Amino acid sequence: MKTELSLFGSYLDYVRSIRYKGNIVFCPICEGRFKSFLPFGVKKRSNAMCPRCRSLERHRLLWLYLRNRTNFFTDDIKVLEIAPQYYIQRKFRSMPNLDYVSVDLYSRIAMINMDVTDTQFEDDSFDCIFCYHVLEHILDDKMAMKEILRVLKPGGWAILHVPILAENR
Ligand SMILES: [Zn+2]
Repeated sequence: MKTELSLFGSYLDYVRSIRYKGNIVFCPICEGRFKSFLPFGVKKRSNAMCPRCRSLERHRLLWLYLRNRTNFFTDDIKVLEIAPQYYIQRKFRSMPNLDYVSVDLYSRIAMINMDVTDTQFEDDSFDCIFCYHVLEHILDDKMAMKEILRVLKPGGWAILHVPILAENR
């Protein structure tokens, strides 16, 4: 069932990317060029989601940051992603320099289902940890951050991204 859903999702992404084919915007993750990104969000933002890989602005920013400012694409590193996004996980898993694992409490696309406030990983396990738009959903977010610090190797780095709601827009 999981594979069927993934294949169906991939087919829809393919069809959508053909429909939006163009040369106005560029997605650095899937390297697609489109006439626009798609609107996305509860309060729809225009030009937000990539028609092919479904990345949002924050994912594309992360990708550019990783590529231009870190050792993520060059060094052999062990990576933990909490609450993975489908297409980005697929890209990370295809990178030979990464020893990658993803976790989530419930998600069917995560490699392991576990509670981020009580992971089963050894101390100092990861060089890099991503926790993207997750902490705001965890009741004991301080415990989750302690756990992330516990499994992060000394000298490792983590990106903990949470939404900030600006009232005066
Ligand atoms: Zn894309």
